[in-house]
Amino acid sequence: MNSAGVWQECLSIIRNRVPSQTFLTWFEPLKVASLGESDLVLQVPSQFYYEWLDSHYRPMILDSLKQASGRDLKVRYSVVLGEDPGANAPAMLPSGNRPENTYSKATQLNKRYTFENFIEGAGNQFAKAAALSVCDPIGKSAFNPLVIYSGVGLGKTHLLQAVGNHVFAEQPGARIIYTTSEKFTLDFIISIQKNKTTTFSNHFRSVDILLVDDIQFFQKKEQTQEQFFHTFNDLFMRGKQIILTMDKPPSELLGLEERLISRFQSGLIVDIQSPDLETRIAILMRKAEADHLDIPYETTEYIARCIKSNVRDLEGALIRLLAYSSLRKQEITLELARTVVMEILGRKSVKRVSIDEIIRTISHEFNIRETTLAGKGRTRDVARARQLAMYLARELTEASLVSIGLHFAGRDHSTVIHACKRIEDRIANDAAFQSRVEFLRKELSNAIF
Ligand code: ADP
Ligand code: MG
Repeated sequence: MNSAGVWQECLSIIRNRVPSQTFLTWFEPLKVASLGESDLVLQVPSQFYYEWLDSHYRPMILDSLKQASGRDLKVRYSVVLGEDPGANAPAMLPSGNRPENTYSKATQLNKRYTFENFIEGAGNQFAKAAALSVCDPIGKSAFNPLVIYSGVGLGKTHLLQAVGNHVFAEQPGARIIYTTSEKFTLDFIISIQKNKTTTFSNHFRSVDILLVDDIQFFQKKEQTQEQFFHTFNDLFMRGKQIILTMDKPPSELLGLEERLISRFQSGLIVDIQSPDLETRIAILMRKAEADHLDIPYETTEYIARCIKSNVRDLEGALIRLLAYSSLRKQEITLELARTVVMEILGRKSVKRVSIDEIIRTISHEFNIRETTLAGKGRTRDVARARQLAMYLARELTEASLVSIGLHFAGRDHSTVIHACKRIEDRIANDAAFQSRVEFLRKELSNAIF
């Protein structure tokens, strides 16, 4: 197979492994520069693009490539800046061993995630200030644990790692662990298999600052939670700083033990809100600058006006714009920006579901009037259908528990939690019910509003 053939094959494998938006943004625009005996060189439009791809998808790319080509190939990247690839000699970057090494193996931290690179705005000011305040000096803060929560792509990981990077720079001797709850779980399981749980606990208990990202993934992993609980207590008692992130306020986390949640609540809890327009513009400008991109201001503002919900999408738009312009050799114009934004928002809007739509669909499915479903009545069938509606609202919308409760005759958020638990139990124990839920979920996700 020639290089194009191998890459096409590899792309079709990747397509099935990542969400379509990810595929379109990161993979479709890639071109093969060359295929050698032992490596494949991919052409990328910027250093940033390369870093992103490499830090997020390297194992997956390598694996797909192995499947496609039948051999172990290394991936290398060539950064092609500007319009004419010939005009700029491409800079070769060996995968996983960058000249400007942005990812530190020792601390597991990405060096790009610093306080300096974090643009401050009304939505994240407090979280940033809180994160900064626990750094100096480490272990002396009154805010322990510090809990940062927000929806996706609003900068939790960035802030958490910024603390790590800051402490590492200021106090090189400090012992820092950054991990995610998923990695913690995995490492714990491995330690059990290898009979090394003591080593595992000692490792975590030896730190000065523990940073754990995405606590929500501890959901339902009782043994790991137990282990984490002891680690937490031990560090806490010895005055070691703990910082955690999660996608909801602790009180709304499902599937986590009560005692863990109450530990989380004993510290300072801060949230990050979606950035306002000025902040979004500033973020885009900063990213463009860091990437040596020359984007007209009106284009920047246009993108910032359209993409509101999160910073990751904002970055995605920039990257996609970049990819279009440099790989397809088009200039960055407002028109091109419009195409990119439509593509990003278009796909999203297909998936957006409102609580009202869920109520409509469930009423129809169970033959109950909408007002009854959303009302106060407590007959068994109605209550069950209502629980399902609440469950789907929680799963398919971004609405908070409180606002879901409000859609159902002003019920309390604990009622919504209870409903979700009941449905989860039923799904676990009743296969027919499970497939019915699956069907409804699909139907709702495909609906366009
Ligand atoms: P989360 O962990 O909340 O899902 P991330 O921390 O991964 O979000 O942020 C997504 C992307 O957006 C990252 O590349 C991050 O650097 C960037 N980002 C988020 N907030 C800001 C900000 N205020 N300033 C600059 N970049 C930001
Ligand atoms: Mg994150």
